[in-house]
Amino acid sequence: MNPLKYLQAYPQHLQDQVRTLLSENRLGDYLHQRYPDRHGVQSDKALYTYALELKQEHLRNAPNLDKVLYDNRLDLTHRALGLHTAVSRVQGGKLKAKKEIRIASLFKEAAPQFLKMIVVHELAHLKESDHNKAFYKLCEYMQPGYHQLEFDLRIYLTWRDLSQ
Ligand SMILES: [Zn+2]
Repeated sequence: MNPLKYLQAYPQHLQDQVRTLLSENRLGDYLHQRYPDRHGVQSDKALYTYALELKQEHLRNAPNLDKVLYDNRLDLTHRALGLHTAVSRVQGGKLKAKKEIRIASLFKEAAPQFLKMIVVHELAHLKESDHNKAFYKLCEYMQPGYHQLEFDLRIYLTWRDLSQ
């Protein structure tokens, strides 16, 4: 299996940098130096509050969030680290769309910057469904340095896979 499977979409020179760190056994050091902290967002309730606060700060006029939760069934593949869904339910004779965000449980143990990154990503989908320019602009606005963090998150996932 390709150890750099999370980094396939990045330019060759960046993949080479990671490959070098990997071969010198320095991936863990790289991550530890940059992301030494852990966060206290350990329950679904805390995660909901956390997401709501971010939304209030940056996306006040986006649709309301009904539910935010950790999901340990989410696959560790690129697209399933977070999920945003609108579940339609009939309520009092009316069709109501419930907005849900699910975050892979692995983020409970990740650095606070990575948790923020994935929540920012899913919140941005409330406004932009595609990964287009406007989407990434919104992410970068909510969390400056977003692109670097997404790259480093992939390094974290690589390291996590290898150390299991
Ligand atoms: Zn997405």
